[in-house]
Amino acid sequence: MLSDWEESSTARVIPPARPRKLAKVPFVELADGRLQGVVSSGSDIGRVYVSSIAAGDYAFACSTNNNRPCGGAHGSFCKHLTALVTESVLQYGAERVARYLRVETVDAEPNAQTVTAAMTGTRPRQTSANAAAPVFSRFLRHLAYLELTPTTTPLPEMQWFPPTREVA
Ligand SMILES: [Zn+2]
Repeated sequence: MLSDWEESSTARVIPPARPRKLAKVPFVELADGRLQGVVSSGSDIGRVYVSSIAAGDYAFACSTNNNRPCGGAHGSFCKHLTALVTESVLQYGAERVARYLRVETVDAEPNAQTVTAAMTGTRPRQTSANAAAPVFSRFLRHLAYLELTPTTTPLPEMQWFPPTREVA
């Protein structure tokens, strides 16, 4: 049994002063009728994007966690959305992602490229209805959960730490 003091001290995990290399896509989920997740900025270690693609019509959105629109998502998938699809295929498998998003590929064995191409081929619309705040807060809870789970194996997600814990 931990004393209260020990318990509260283990709950405050101090992140390393200098974050190590970010996981490219530290959080991805199939939820709320969307493929959505958090994608790290390639250039700025303190910035992340919340990207989403809706099932059925593939309406897509990409913005920072502070709701600034992504400069790369104009009329087509930006690199964050592409990275999100790639990571979801790694985690869930292409068939499950395609089924969830209701993507019909002509391939017997779909992969991230063919699923992406099938969606962008329909010229999906860009939407501002991004659920950035709830997705980002689930991502932070996901991090907190990892911090509180005793483990001796390295967790790639732990390599990413937001500079602040504010959710816009
Ligand atoms: Zn983007």
